[in-house]
Amino acid sequence: MIAICIHGGAGDRQRSTEDSRILQALGDALDAGWSVLESGGAALDAVQVAIGVLEDEPLFNAGRGAALTLDGSVELDAALADGATGRVGAVIGVQRVRYPIAAARAVLDHSPHVIMAGDGAERFAIEHGCDPVEPDFFVTERSLAALKRYRDNQSRVELGTVGAVALDAAGRLAAGNSTGGVMGKLPGRVGDTPIIGAGTYADHRVAVACTGYGEYFVRVGAALRLAMLVELGSQSLEAAACQVLDTVTALGGRGGLIALDADGTFTMPFSTSSMARAWRRSDGKPGVELW
Ligand code: ASP
Repeated sequence: MIAICIHGGAGDRQRSTEDSRILQALGDALDAGWSVLESGGAALDAVQVAIGVLEDEPLFNAGRGAALTLDGSVELDAALADGATGRVGAVIGVQRVRYPIAAARAVLDHSPHVIMAGDGAERFAIEHGCDPVEPDFFVTERSLAALKRYRDNQSRVELGTVGAVALDAAGRLAAGNSTGGVMGKLPGRVGDTPIIGAGTYADHRVAVACTGYGEYFVRVGAALRLAMLVELGSQSLEAAACQVLDTVTALGGRGGLIALDADGTFTMPFSTSSMARAWRRSDGKPGVELW
């Protein structure tokens, strides 16, 4: 069995003319990850490749076009977790690396650390082959307009963080996420995405990638909580995922998650009105949905 699930963020999207492009990009990311798995590649590579495709699409809140801080700057977070080995890598607040998920991979592969932040993370990633860019590269007309809307009326309807979970032919699981955080965040704010066990987690049983108002996912340790519910309880993956979202809801938070286990069972619940998502397993057809 091989399987991959992708999310393009939970939120309260309005239907728009951008929907078809979002669906197309999710399909492209799914195909890219699927090709890695189909050719016998590692789940970790499939997750990284799929996320890289979405970081390049400015309609998502990751890489180019990502959410801006209140002062209009960009601070990008990303994480990767390799369930088979327990290795993880994450970056926080990077501004000068084109693919933050590749920077997270550099931390995982080449550093003695698990999370690196800011300037040091950027220098380390670039030294290990990541593409350097100027911070302006990430800022788009669309993200500036969304920041203006947020400043005008504090509305934050679109989240659009991206993430993926995958299971490869060798039975290895992996998870990853990449985000600009939440629109209008205070400079220096860190959400759940790069915090292993909060937004992103994988072990040999389950891989989890969360999306939503990160503060709540951090407070409940959402991704690790799900894995623990599966490990310790007799709950199904779906029941465990719903319980985690209920815990987030009880604190006043909203969002969604994708979770995949070593049998290829997956679940993609969300408590917002939409969550962009796509999925494929070796015994079924690919799917892609927004609502
Ligand atoms: N969870 C992300 C954060 O709080 C945002 C998102 O999922 O869209 O940074």
